Amino acid sequence: MRLRSAAVVGGGPGGLYAARLIKLSQPDCRVDVYEDIDPARTFGFGVGLATRTQRNLQAADPDTLQDILATCWPHDMSMRVGGHKVQLPGDNLIAIGRTALLDLLRRHAAAVGVKLHYGTRVRAEDLDADVVVAADGVSSATREAHTQEFGAGIEWHDGLYVWCGAEFALPSAVFTPATTEFGTFVAHAYPYAADSSTFLVEADETTWRAAGFDRTTELTAPEDNDETTLAYLSEAFADELQGHRLIGNRTRWLRFRTVRCRQWHHGNIVLLGDAAHTAHYSIGSGTKLAMEGAIALSRALAEQPTVADALAEYDAVHRPGVEHLQETADRSMYWWDSFPTRLDLPVEQLFVSYMTRAGKVSVDTFAERSPQVVDAALAQYGGMPASDVDAGARIEWILSRPLPATADRVSGRVVPEAYLDDVVGPSVAVHVDIARPWLPAAGELVATVARAVAAGTTGAVVLSCDDEVGAVLTMFDVGERMKRETGGLVVARLSPKWRETAADALLSGRADLISWTVPTDAGAEIGP
Ligand SMILES: Cc1cc2nc3c(=O)[nH]c(=O)nc-3n(C[C@H](O)[C@H](O)[C@H](O)COP(=O)(O)OP(=O)(O)OC[C@H]3O[C@@H](n4cnc5c(N)ncnc54)[C@H](O)[C@@H]3O)c2cc1C
Repeated sequence: MRLRSAAVVGGGPGGLYAARLIKLSQPDCRVDVYEDIDPARTFGFGVGLATRTQRNLQAADPDTLQDILATCWPHDMSMRVGGHKVQLPGDNLIAIGRTALLDLLRRHAAAVGVKLHYGTRVRAEDLDADVVVAADGVSSATREAHTQEFGAGIEWHDGLYVWCGAEFALPSAVFTPATTEFGTFVAHAYPYAADSSTFLVEADETTWRAAGFDRTTELTAPEDNDETTLAYLSEAFADELQGHRLIGNRTRWLRFRTVRCRQWHHGNIVLLGDAAHTAHYSIGSGTKLAMEGAIALSRALAEQPTVADALAEYDAVHRPGVEHLQETADRSMYWWDSFPTRLDLPVEQLFVSYMTRAGKVSVDTFAERSPQVVDAALAQYGGMPASDVDAGARIEWILSRPLPATADRVSGRVVPEAYLDDVVGPSVAVHVDIARPWLPAAGELVATVARAVAAGTTGAVVLSCDDEVGAVLTMFDVGERMKRETGGLVVARLSPKWRETAADALLSGRADLISWTVPTDAGAEIGP
């Protein structure tokens, strides 16, 4: 289709990139970007971008990618708990300052003839163009004005986060908790330039209130920083900050919102980026999704015969990837929300739990990248030196390690159904068919089992679920809650086709024992 004009509301990464790509593919089209905030006042520290984004950007627009790669800062990854730290190569991790990213996207948009209008707040409905791209961010007024048409829903999360920076480059990205008199604060921090790092800090609501940050948030004007928070967290994370202080940029505590829409277009208006969808920051994908959305939209506009066809095509092409990432992001968010409950795990095992939290990476695939970390975690799990770990068959090794509490009855972690009573004693069976492991329905399930364990009527719970990946992951997340909150043994009953997921779960403390729904000879012997 030949577009005569396109108007873009919002000059964030999504809007600027979409404007350039539309103009690149349709040079005769007039493309205007309207951005409320003057570039000099743009806020934000660094954002992370991963490999896949880079491949997509390479195919869509190599010049912009080249500039991003020349500006960004590659980094390794680490986790530190107390004095213990694990570090692994970043391979494909890069970060870039939000202002640097916007500067270069602006330059590239202007270079192909996009007209940029800064300090201009507009309404999508007032713009006269063949297509209006609403890339107006997570608080999108366009989405709010047509909630019904877009089928928009917003889920507010319980935890709080604050986006801070520091004026030095951390040696690598680091996840680290600070345990204080009020509770645990957790930093996700990474360098993004020679003199800059992002420090994103999160806390649960109880900790946040106990520290008085509910009050400081109320007292902080929208344009100001919550200085009390910055001062407090600078002390709490003094070790990581190496003598620096945290700095703010309109920094205040926020709750994350997951935005979902049934459809992203209404008439000739189309939502893009955070306006259309968000994914929890712990998978570092918001910018990636916004830029990938821009690629899908500009292609559809070039290839389809009408605007209506193009917007439907954009939705169809971009949606599966978005929904997949949102699902992963939800699991990741829950893992981070519950992070302080796992601090008893040795840091290598904790890192394996982190890597396998959303079912995207298994113990074996993680071991390809970082065998030392995985083998240290296996040694911690097996209670033996790393030299005794069988690195040639990690999955079978995990399944065949005895659990101290049942070692006199079963040699490994796999218990045939017929022997469950002999091995774990009286148990309750729970079929986990809830959508999410952290919502109240799961809490009620856990509380019911906790009561039975406390009353002494059972010492174990046998969990089962539907035979599909989401259900299996949710069952193991519920299993972890059961383990931690009830004190009972947790047996997961599932098909042996999930043996890798089961091994990940055992190593990460999401279950104690496994019982296959189909007999297999691997993993256990009954009897002492
Ligand atoms: C704490 C935190 C950490 C994050 N970390 C990462 C990370 O590591 N990696 C990553 O990829 N992403 C990260 N993100 C997400 C990322 O910042 C966003 O997903 C990304 O900026 C979305 O781009 P966008 O263009 O859709 O929207 P935005 O960047 O929000 O841009 C929207 C723009 O629209 C403008 N605007 C709004 N309304 C109007 C109007 N009516 N008229 C004119 N202009 C308007 C706004 O001023 C704004 O500039 C993080 C987000 C948060 C909150």
